[in-house]
Amino acid sequence: MTLSGPAAEQWAAAVAAVRCTGADDEVQLICHVNPDGDALGSMLGFGLGLRRLGYTRVRASFPGEFAVPGPYAGLPGSALLAPETEAYAAPRLVVVFDVASESRLGGLAGRLAAAPVSVVLDHHASNTGFGTVRLVDPRAAATSVVADELLARLGVPLDAEIAECLYVALATDTGSFKFDMTTVTVHELAARLIATGIRPGEISRRIFDSRPFGAMKLTGEVLGRAVLEPAAAGGRGMVWTYATLADLERHGQPPYVLDALIDPVRSVAEADVAVVVKQVAAGEWSVSLRSKGAVDVSGVAMSQGGGGHRLAAGFTAYGEAADVVDTVRRILDEHLS
Ligand code: AMP
Ligand code: MN
Ligand code: MN
Repeated sequence: MTLSGPAAEQWAAAVAAVRCTGADDEVQLICHVNPDGDALGSMLGFGLGLRRLGYTRVRASFPGEFAVPGPYAGLPGSALLAPETEAYAAPRLVVVFDVASESRLGGLAGRLAAAPVSVVLDHHASNTGFGTVRLVDPRAAATSVVADELLARLGVPLDAEIAECLYVALATDTGSFKFDMTTVTVHELAARLIATGIRPGEISRRIFDSRPFGAMKLTGEVLGRAVLEPAAAGGRGMVWTYATLADLERHGQPPYVLDALIDPVRSVAEADVAVVVKQVAAGEWSVSLRSKGAVDVSGVAMSQGGGGHRLAAGFTAYGEAADVVDTVRRILDEHLS
């Protein structure tokens, strides 16, 4: 697969889509279910940009329960957030953020057909190509890189509020500027964002280094039951663990605290592949996959109806946690044999 950014016509079409929208027309922004820092940060940063341009009716939504993960709850632009039930029914313009496939839009997927134009901003190589205007750049470290460029083309200057949103998105998807995707472009964008006066230390503490005591205890318990399988993944090794709704309840924690668990698990030196199986309902699991480089985990995720990036992917699975792990182990063996 060749990696290239959006074509000039797509950028022009995206700018035209915004400019053809009246200041009082309804604009619906949508990001993926269980939003992360990139989904929320790029959506709210762009939403604030539209407000600066004078658009008066901008709503920002994501499908499912209207729960913003604690670290992102105070982001600038949060006043634009509206639950799925209050999303505009037939907006003039839809803009989608960090969504690789329509399945990640849940009950809001129909809004794309309900609007005359839908602009998709994304950076997943696995993007399925939906929406009428597609700004998909698999070379971008985060959707916020694409959002920044569209804001610039619309003539919106960065201010500290927009910058904080885009910075949170960038820091989240680069793992605090540690992943391979941390390019010159990433640091140049970070520099422009920081130049608006935002406080990177304070932002990082809030989104990465602050959690309730119960979340720390829960993490300890879930990591304590991790299993290392050195022979799995064609001898490259796999490490996995799981967490149930009962675990969350016992420690009084909301589901998003489980999303951080993949980081300590993927640090295990003896395994290329890390797997965290997180219960979302009875018999339903959200599976996070990571590779250090030897395995394309997006292939595994896509074979199960999910998606993601080469080294970070996920899918939804059904049944028992042990069966989900068996499935991942089997697909890895198939892919690597
Ligand atoms: P996560 O493990 O949830 O942090 O997700 C890692 C990557 O996989 C992200 O880029 C997600 O967009 C993608 N991903 C996770 N779960 C799914 C899913 N159920 N369907 C499609 N993509 C997913
Ligand atoms: Mn995301
Ligand atoms: Mn992203």
